[in-house]
Amino acid sequence: MKSIALFNAFEWGAEYLKTSFEERGFEVDLYDDPLSVHTLPQKRSYDALCVFVGSEVSKEVLDAFENLSVVVTLSTGFNHIDIEECRRRGIGVGYVPYYGEHTVAEFAMGIILTLSRKLFLAADRIKERSDFSFRGLEGFDLKDKTLGVIGTGHIGRHLISMGKGFGMNICAYDVSPDREYEKEEGISYLSFEEVLGKSDIVSLHVPYMKETHHMIGEKELSLMKRGSLLINTARGGLVDTSALVKALQENHLGGAGLDVLEEEGILQDEMGFVLRSESKGDVRVVVANHILMDMDNVIITPHTAFNTREAKKRVYDDGIANIVSFFEKGNVVYEVV
Ligand code: NAD
Repeated sequence: MKSIALFNAFEWGAEYLKTSFEERGFEVDLYDDPLSVHTLPQKRSYDALCVFVGSEVSKEVLDAFENLSVVVTLSTGFNHIDIEECRRRGIGVGYVPYYGEHTVAEFAMGIILTLSRKLFLAADRIKERSDFSFRGLEGFDLKDKTLGVIGTGHIGRHLISMGKGFGMNICAYDVSPDREYEKEEGISYLSFEEVLGKSDIVSLHVPYMKETHHMIGEKELSLMKRGSLLINTARGGLVDTSALVKALQENHLGGAGLDVLEEEGILQDEMGFVLRSESKGDVRVVVANHILMDMDNVIITPHTAFNTREAKKRVYDDGIANIVSFFEKGNVVYEVV
């Protein structure tokens, strides 16, 4: 019987995954914490690891599991897995690319509206002070504003449709522009710099990798329109956090909406980070994150853009299909390429 270690699954998902795997003849152990070199389980004989984005499947982690045949992440991004090392060892790697295109786009649209209409300040005012004044809550219309979408893949395209529904003008940048899509949708692909300079709202939808690390840094922020908004629901590492703090502090940017942060793993367990002598991470970024959390024109959410019941069911079903297919047919359904 093949065995699976399932990390950091919670609420109904933990039971759903466990039962579904067991019905298909697998043995499953659930672990509450994300998997990392600090949270290795006692038992190491697993055939498969099933993780979420909070896990860190590094070379050291792979060293610990001698029988491992496959790693499946229940996420679209896979930068938390050492893919090269898995390849070198012949370990299959699966992910779930298609579960939540509109789910994440809906969330990005929600963040945009939250900032443009100061919804979070308005709601807080009532909840915390029962204050019904609308002074200081003036927002701006989305209609006729320009939405700049960086990355026109699955999520970016859904956001474009939503932006069009709000009467926004759309421009976009992608390393591989799809000219047919551009014509059909009536949008314009521009250069990266042009999109930054033209947009009232810039939303990021590209994968995080070496080439996209800090793609929004000091120079790029300076190219953005004064008073514009930056939305990041993709990955924290796309944005240089210290440069973002500076652009907001100097009132060059009008605000930021961030579902993802650099070093968000540390924020989830700051006590553990401080207490572990071998902790690695950029403390300057952690401090910058705390400064962002205190800013009135910044909203930060805990990497929850994917988090709807429907999307999670699709994630779980695709994750299960990946592992079942790997052991029945020799390959996962959605392979990281
Ligand atoms: P996708 O692969 O469908 O689209 C990515 C697009 O980015 C592609 O069109 C690609 O050509 C483009 N691209 C790649 N490198 C680029 C570069 N250097 N410059 C410009 N464009 C580039 O991915 P997707 O499904 O739209 O997801 C986008 C990202 O959203 C994922 O990589 C993931 O990190 C993130 N995500 C976040 C959540 C969340 O809960 N916050 C959930 C799902 C996905």
